[in-house]
Amino acid sequence: MPDCLFCQIIAGDIPAEVVAETSTAFAFRDVNPQAPLHVLVVPRTHAADVGELAEVEPGTVPELVRVARQVATEAGHDSYRLVVNTGAEAGQTVLHAHLHVLAGRALAWPPG
Ligand code: 5GP
Ligand code: ZN
Repeated sequence: MPDCLFCQIIAGDIPAEVVAETSTAFAFRDVNPQAPLHVLVVPRTHAADVGELAEVEPGTVPELVRVARQVATEAGHDSYRLVVNTGAEAGQTVLHAHLHVLAGRALAWPPG
């Protein structure tokens, strides 16, 4: 998707600090971190959100979770939060599926 921000990051057309890559997943630091560790794990395949990804490429959903766990544990965090915002009211601003991996500070519940 040429106009998609995360597709452009995956293609290397927009710089990002990449922390993990597999054949189907790509992970890079969020430009506006909300915790000491804040990484976005995205599929290489464009899908608008994780639910859509589950329809079009279901095997990649657990791969995103696996990479998220790897990123957190390799950074020394066995406690971390995965966030998936879906839709504008839930806070989704980029329409390419992504998991937020947040770790390194105490995280409140319920979320805002
Ligand atoms: P959402 O709000 O859709 O759940 O998450 C989108 C995330 O993408 C936000 O946390 C935002 O900070 C991050 N983001 C937006 N633009 C860029 C960018 O150009 N580079 C990186 N690395 N992250 C971005
Ligand atoms: Zn995309």
